Amino acid sequence: MQLLKNLFSKPLSTQLTVTSSNGFHLRPVARFTALAKSYKCDVTATFNGKTVDAKKVNTLLSLSLEKQDTFTLTTQGKEAQQALTSLQTLFKTLMQDDIEVTTIQKKSAHYTSKTLEGDIIAKGVAVAPATGYKTETIQHENSLTFKEAIENTLQNLEKKSKQSDIYLAQKELLLALSEKCDSLESLETLMNEESNALKETKLSSKITDYQDILQQVKTALGLEVKVLFPEHAFILLANDLLPSEITLLVSTQVEAVVLKETSIHSHTAILLRASGITSLIADTSKIPLEKEIIVDSIAGVVVLTPNSEDIQKAKTLQKQTKEQKAHSATKRFEPATTSKGKQIKVFANVGDIESAKAAKEEGAEGIGLLRSEFLFKSTRPTLETQTKAYAEIFDAFDDITVRTLDVGGDKALPYLHIPLEDNPFLGIRGVRLFRTHPEILEEQLHAIFVASQGKKIKVMFPMVSTVEEFNKAKSFAQDVAKKHTIDVSNIAFGIMIEVPSVLFQIELFNDAVDFYSIGTNDLTQYLFAVERTHPLLKVDELSPVVFLALESVVKQATKPVSICGELAANSDAIEKLIHLGLTTLSVSPKSIAQTKERIRHV
Ligand code: PEP
Ligand code: MG
Repeated sequence: MQLLKNLFSKPLSTQLTVTSSNGFHLRPVARFTALAKSYKCDVTATFNGKTVDAKKVNTLLSLSLEKQDTFTLTTQGKEAQQALTSLQTLFKTLMQDDIEVTTIQKKSAHYTSKTLEGDIIAKGVAVAPATGYKTETIQHENSLTFKEAIENTLQNLEKKSKQSDIYLAQKELLLALSEKCDSLESLETLMNEESNALKETKLSSKITDYQDILQQVKTALGLEVKVLFPEHAFILLANDLLPSEITLLVSTQVEAVVLKETSIHSHTAILLRASGITSLIADTSKIPLEKEIIVDSIAGVVVLTPNSEDIQKAKTLQKQTKEQKAHSATKRFEPATTSKGKQIKVFANVGDIESAKAAKEEGAEGIGLLRSEFLFKSTRPTLETQTKAYAEIFDAFDDITVRTLDVGGDKALPYLHIPLEDNPFLGIRGVRLFRTHPEILEEQLHAIFVASQGKKIKVMFPMVSTVEEFNKAKSFAQDVAKKHTIDVSNIAFGIMIEVPSVLFQIELFNDAVDFYSIGTNDLTQYLFAVERTHPLLKVDELSPVVFLALESVVKQATKPVSICGELAANSDAIEKLIHLGLTTLSVSPKSIAQTKERIRHV
């Protein structure tokens, strides 16, 4: 017993390097701490001699970790081993998925009146009177205690977290801060202390999140601060806005927003971009209030006292921009045909029900890759949950490829205890899970078969490296169907081409599979032996080696081949891919319109 206790209490640690240019900021930190909290062990992070609790958003944030910073993650206690493995892999995924926000390039503009320069948050052109930020404080009757108000706010944030990770981050932050407080005053003091510490750091733009949370708690306690918006079209000038205020703005007649003190990385800016509101960062104190101004956030300027010629010019530009958007919006539903008349199918890679629906809206002609991992996040999904989700997605398109669970490597699952591996990218990943967790795949295949209801569905196995492996997986699937007396003659079985060994066995695979889909993200990593999430080592995805691999597959394959790696959306690769003979490209929903447009120029 004592020996066991000692074993549990032995600390385990690993070094993690921040690879995202955005640093380890609030949203990824919130996802990290949410997972850390699910383990029965201590989790700490050490950087520059400072050790903090890595289960709390605010303490982990206080390390101010930026790109290239390496910190030590330590776990100690009963589930130390699983926690370390899962957190390590989640961290890599978070870094990889964190899209770098870069400065938006300005187009030159020629207005005759005086202009004020700014930084672009979201592109657009607006002409309307400028209005200042005004609020009204209303004291409602309050029946809640401080603890109830916290609970109430946490529940609201939980609901909103389905719209954006920003609200999950706010929820985790409030959870961590409220633990130490028993009154609004103590919460306000703590929030001021912590947010003041962020001033002058790279995380200063997250101070508004602290203010936003505090205001939401105050509102729950009856102290509402109502923002007053005009009843006509207007351009809003403010020092900054709280992220939650953007949700209110969307239903007003706002034409544009100019903020003085935010940054292009702030949550307010992210939500403005997501809402498509023309917006700019500029010195609002120099802009006359209640007068008509122009915000041209394509050129990155505010025209302070525009004359009629400037207004005419801006209105023409505004009309053109709207028409262009409408044009590409309608064109995205048209098929993509090259200049020589070859039709290329553009499918979507989707990772949940929402993105599948969005893909339809973006003009996808089918789903080339349904990453089923979304169903398997924090808890194991039931058969019913899975069946319902697949059925909903299968309903949306006629041509759908669903990939069986692809965890391991850079994708961790808290409840799936894969022993710590020295080289997880070469370990239990994708189809290899059949060996260790057949029950999970059995349930997944069962759900897919039930949801397909006779519809033609393609089931794809990831990380296949030999024909035997594919055959085993396929006969396992057929056994599942037999066990539940489901006819699967409507199901096609195929593989992702991600492991280089497959390149040399295409002739053998031709007799076994119904289709292939090339996953260039992993194929490139394995061809060059460079981990796809490595902080320093990078491979050029346009390397001739990658195209040689694709060429050899297309030349030898006698079954349909598509491509679903990121390369399919790279405008410098599309022409080559089509010349190689690929006729189906599967890309992320947001890349569909531009991929189709690029194809039309081949
Ligand atoms: C790939 O490896 O190219 C691929 C599409 O799969 P994922 O990125 O999900 O591993
Ligand atoms: Mg892959």
